[in-house]
Amino acid sequence: MTREVPVVIDGDACPRGGRETVPVRSPSTGEQLATMVRGTPEDVDRAVRAAGHAAAVLVSMTPRARAGLVRRVGELIAERAGTIAHDLAGEQGKPLREAEGEVATAVIMWHEAAEIVRHSTDEILPSDDAARRVVVVRRPHGVLAVITPWNFPATIPTEYLSAGLAAGNAIVWKPSELTPLTAVHLMDCIRDAGFPPGSVNLVPGLGHDTGAALVSHPRISAIGFTGSPRTGDAIARAAGAKPMLLELGGNNATVVLDDVDVAAAADRLSSAAFANAGQICSSTERIVIHRRIHDQLADALTERAKALRLGLSLDPSTTIGPLNNEPTVTKVNGHIEDAVAKGARVTTGGKRAGGWPTPLYYEPTVMTGLTPEMLAFTEETFGPVAALMTFESDDEAVGLVNGHGLGLIAGILGEDVTRALAIGRRIDAGVVNIGDVATAWQPHTPFGGYSGRASGVGRLGGRYTVEALSQLQTFVLPA
Ligand code: NAD
Repeated sequence: MTREVPVVIDGDACPRGGRETVPVRSPSTGEQLATMVRGTPEDVDRAVRAAGHAAAVLVSMTPRARAGLVRRVGELIAERAGTIAHDLAGEQGKPLREAEGEVATAVIMWHEAAEIVRHSTDEILPSDDAARRVVVVRRPHGVLAVITPWNFPATIPTEYLSAGLAAGNAIVWKPSELTPLTAVHLMDCIRDAGFPPGSVNLVPGLGHDTGAALVSHPRISAIGFTGSPRTGDAIARAAGAKPMLLELGGNNATVVLDDVDVAAAADRLSSAAFANAGQICSSTERIVIHRRIHDQLADALTERAKALRLGLSLDPSTTIGPLNNEPTVTKVNGHIEDAVAKGARVTTGGKRAGGWPTPLYYEPTVMTGLTPEMLAFTEETFGPVAALMTFESDDEAVGLVNGHGLGLIAGILGEDVTRALAIGRRIDAGVVNIGDVATAWQPHTPFGGYSGRASGVGRLGGRYTVEALSQLQTFVLPA
């Protein structure tokens, strides 16, 4: 019997009834893995109400008690890691080893959120009035709407769910319609950890109906969204003045100075561009290389791309899997065709790989001659493409990194730290890695889009997520 991804409200899976469904398919084999029920606007409304009741219970618990439950979720995910990673790889398409790494990171994030809240303290401010004391406390927002994408089905939801629950919020969650099986596992762990029913309600569905109904629901207090800049814009418009965390796309550049060890740089850049087949918001898409070492590095990177083993997600020898969905393949292919038409040269890859069970397999691609007129420069490609361009002066490198509308993360590979830092200080990105690729990321550090650019609003990461998913309340008390 096909598995079902149900609507879960107040701790109970709702019977399918007359709701529409969509199949969940493996990008790797094409096999139907499950049937996902599409939550209706009425489901969204019931889920928000159930969350409202649970929020009243959660806020009355001590932060230390909530921290205990949050920690338990992490332990349960760790116990079930093998099954979760198997389903995650199956529905997302990444190699099993990467899925296992993702689940292990999710466990760390649940534990981290628990620790942050366990050790949280109120703040006492100096008072201008000797008869009064000022105490600042953190309160949850109330009911959070959480909407997540398909590229990291365990860690991205975990960012919002772990910190949101730890801070005392209840949640209504719409996972991506492309990866809802991982969501069912996370829901089971949250229930089994002992959270009160309704603490997290699952309303699977498509973005334009279920997602839109959720973000525009009047009883939602705040929104956590990770996804594309286009959807982020729509959500910001629907949400009006509600508190929001929006984590959107990037077209991230790694600058390579002419003092690097070329072989070591090529190794780092290969995983920065091709991990998860490039479907990472922090993926290195543009490689801005000093002219003196460009040809050498282009050759080394081409060699590494050719050495990757494209294959089935669950085959242990696979180092790069298929892309997750057809619109992504079409976009990647379009960016390459556009670049080639404008003068870029593909040194390896550049097309779909034939002979696999689905048309979603794409050859790891290295392309030289990227220019600011090309879509691969101005937009996020989100595929297995390393696009190379050259610079001569450091000013030129800064101009190229900043020369488009996004601003998520950047990296500078180089031995001369002073020079790398001088470049890094001029880059408009939320994170700048000095001496490393753009893609390097630590989950507890603040991560998000640079103001004025289209990569998002606010910062995720450890205590910064807890802060974003809660509010300050000032008590002025008799001394
Ligand atoms: P997407 O925007 O298409 O979808 C994301 C989620 O939003 C899905 O659950 C979808 O169903 C829902 N949605 C779509 N339209 C909606 C609407 N009108 N109202 C409410 N919900 C709606 O993004 P995607 O293709 O799933 O994910 C890829 C994108 O996510 C890339 O741009 C990537 O860079 C970005 N991303 C960003 C980060 C980050 O931390 N900055 C991390 C991972 C992915």
